[in-house]
Amino acid sequence: MQTQAGRENAFRRLAKSKFRSRFHLSADDRQYIAEKGMETIRRHCEDFIRTRLALATPPNDGRQTPMRGHPVFLAQHACACCCRGCMEKWWKVPKGTPIPPERQSRIVDFLMAWIEKEYERGQGSGVRGQGIGVGV
Ligand SMILES: [Zn+2]
Repeated sequence: MQTQAGRENAFRRLAKSKFRSRFHLSADDRQYIAEKGMETIRRHCEDFIRTRLALATPPNDGRQTPMRGHPVFLAQHACACCCRGCMEKWWKVPKGTPIPPERQSRIVDFLMAWIEKEYERGQGSGVRGQGIGVGV
């Protein structure tokens, strides 16, 4: 999850999962990013990871990440960083121990890379998946 190559590899693995590759930023998420800016989104991301994921036993583990409502939530599902079960299964982060700060920032980098990729991909191509009354 750290180097550029490692990250590309991780994205390729995720792309093979039907469930993970289903997640995309919504029009509202894009709007939110445009208003807040990436730096603010990154700060939210750091907070979410620290308070909802990094504890040895996060409250509500397995259900702590909503399916919508914030770009970071989408990224967490798309990147299998939504709960400690997925973190262990996909990224070999052992359950039951706190995630150290260095590893937290690698997770944040990974999630932000997904958000930036998604965001750029959507720019200029209109709103995908809504064929009626959108664009010219
Ligand atoms: Zn999960």
